[in-house]
Amino acid sequence: MSCDVLIIGGGLTGALMSYQFSKEGYKTILIDKRDIGTGSTSANTSMVQYEIDEPLYGLIEMVGKEAAVNVYKACEETIYKLDKIVDTLKIDCDFKLTDSLLFAKNLQDADGLKRELACRKMAGLTVKWLNADQIYKGYGILSEGGILSETAARMDAYRLTHALIDHSVKKFGAKVFDHTAVASVENMASKNYVTVDTSAVIESNFIVYATGYETQELIGKKIGKLVSTYACISEPLTNLPMALNDAIFWDTGNPYCYFRTTPDNRILIGGEDENFKDPEKRDALIEKKESQLVSMFHQCVPGMDFVPDFTWAGTFGQTKDTLPYIGLHPDFPNSYFALGFGGNGITFSVMAMEILSDAVAKRHNKFLEYFGFNR
Ligand SMILES: Cc1cc2nc3c(=O)[nH]c(=O)nc-3n(C[C@H](O)[C@H](O)[C@H](O)COP(=O)(O)OP(=O)(O)OC[C@H]3O[C@@H](n4cnc5c(N)ncnc54)[C@H](O)[C@@H]3O)c2cc1C
Repeated sequence: MSCDVLIIGGGLTGALMSYQFSKEGYKTILIDKRDIGTGSTSANTSMVQYEIDEPLYGLIEMVGKEAAVNVYKACEETIYKLDKIVDTLKIDCDFKLTDSLLFAKNLQDADGLKRELACRKMAGLTVKWLNADQIYKGYGILSEGGILSETAARMDAYRLTHALIDHSVKKFGAKVFDHTAVASVENMASKNYVTVDTSAVIESNFIVYATGYETQELIGKKIGKLVSTYACISEPLTNLPMALNDAIFWDTGNPYCYFRTTPDNRILIGGEDENFKDPEKRDALIEKKESQLVSMFHQCVPGMDFVPDFTWAGTFGQTKDTLPYIGLHPDFPNSYFALGFGGNGITFSVMAMEILSDAVAKRHNKFLEYFGFNR
């Protein structure tokens, strides 16, 4: 077969890429070695944030004020862009715009958050301070105060992935092959030849690697740290306070914890990262992590029922500056990467649509510089 763009990886990132490129008229093929959406996308707790793992003041120290502010502002805009996509395509994925509350676990963290608040205000982001009393009265959460941001969302990333791929296929003629792994790749001057495990060959003008955390093996170089992370969902609650539906929540603790509600009145909590990625070792800890997550939740929100229904684990990637890798890689001709490493992988994947669309069309995009492999 031949195409303009071959997308390798059918998680949320690959789905967004397939939607973007097929919509723009590129003949698009997407392959995945597993079922669609069963990589990290299926483990995803689907909190959509503009706030990346590194606070704005820390990112300014790392990459400079202009780049850091541009990244934060663009991440904020991206959430509204995603809302528009979901709305335009009428995708049923429980997407809901919410606030986001980052709350301090102790007085020292509260001081750090106040510094962050000032920095975000300077950048023009819509944020305000809530003191401990306001947070307790508003949400029933114990804290030392926190930053309330107006822009965030929650959704079901797995359903969004399938809907986007479905749309790309039915509306724009994209072709999708699951259970199709890459056997070898040959990059020629202007074409790529990808042989897959059935021995079929796909010729493409360019490749987009949306291969998630497994890309590290493919590139053969360490581009980030891979860790294990855990999540647990409660059984539906009959007395879920309505205010908890209006925001997504995360704390400054170490280990940290984050949570949100679901449309069927459950609470979804996550965190308790471990510094290794070995899946067997990781999964052996699931039971222990479940009780630790539940106990952390009870410390934050005392008096609320939480009966665990299901608990799972997944691999998670972190880069040095918490920014993603999006763009060309010097060792892979005619090939682009869309790797939304970091806590807000979803937001970065959505940003990758426009960034790679510009890259392929040879249009300037400053994020290619900020998110490049050579930064
Ligand atoms: C427990 C957990 C909670 C998370 N919560 C959040 C959250 O709340 N918000 C957020 O923004 N992010 C979150 N993340 C991160 C999030 O999951 C990722 O950012 C995002 O889902 C990555 O999507 P992806 O499509 O890039 O990767 P994946 O979903 O992993 O997709 C990559 C795909 O590539 C395929 N593939 C790999 N190699 C090959 C190959 N050689 N040939 C063919 N196919 C290949 C895989 O089979 C896979 O389907 C969380 C992660 C975990 C583990």
